[in-house]
Amino acid sequence: MGDGSSMRFRKLLGVSRAQTSGDAMPVPEKCDRPGLTNRPAGGSGGHHRPGAAHRSPRPTGAPTSPPAGPTLSGWPRNISWSDFQEVGARPAGVNEAAQIKSDVTQPNRVGVVPDNGMRRLAAYTVTVSIGRDQSWVVTDQKSAALLAHEQGHFDITGLSARDLVTDLSALRAATLEGLQSEVTRLIEQQGTLAEALGGTASSVGQYDKETNHGSNRDAQQRWEGILRGCIQNGTRLSASLFRTEDH
Ligand SMILES: [Zn+2]
Repeated sequence: MGDGSSMRFRKLLGVSRAQTSGDAMPVPEKCDRPGLTNRPAGGSGGHHRPGAAHRSPRPTGAPTSPPAGPTLSGWPRNISWSDFQEVGARPAGVNEAAQIKSDVTQPNRVGVVPDNGMRRLAAYTVTVSIGRDQSWVVTDQKSAALLAHEQGHFDITGLSARDLVTDLSALRAATLEGLQSEVTRLIEQQGTLAEALGGTASSVGQYDKETNHGSNRDAQQRWEGILRGCIQNGTRLSASLFRTEDH
């Protein structure tokens, strides 16, 4: 059994000067990683959600709840073979039985709102999805074990995105430039982690190395257990979780 994976953490969120309080307009900074495919940002354009401006008025004197920040969509979920295209044979030169392409996408423009003298991101959706056009499985090699291995790839991406949303939601900065800088750093950080663990189109990640693309049964089960724990317990994804205890 073998497979490959690729994923993309889109880096985005350029921030421009605030125009009016609560109505700053970040602008896109398109910066995909080398070796990863590009796709028109925003896609359907359906990811943008109303920001703070759409909150209902509150009675005078009532405490104002903080505006909602980024939220996660599309994960967790169980993947199925319907997320993949079926192929009769592996593409030439590829030594893999399946490949999953998971994406983490965010809108090109998001709002910035004031928060106690600081600035924070307004509400928007971070979406985890599978690029079916670049995900495939060799029909006669479909198995529950292979699907579970691919699920692991998807969960690595999803956990990275979940932790990114947590970080972005907590983010406060005095200036738009500071906010932009931190947003870029956090996206970079989680993208790097996801790639180190899950691999990319051009590099083999720790997950595939240790599980030998899922064929090392013990290692595969170990990874699945750790990933499950991260999902169920909220444990933050980190490379150190997967280090084998050796004393
Ligand atoms: Zn794999």
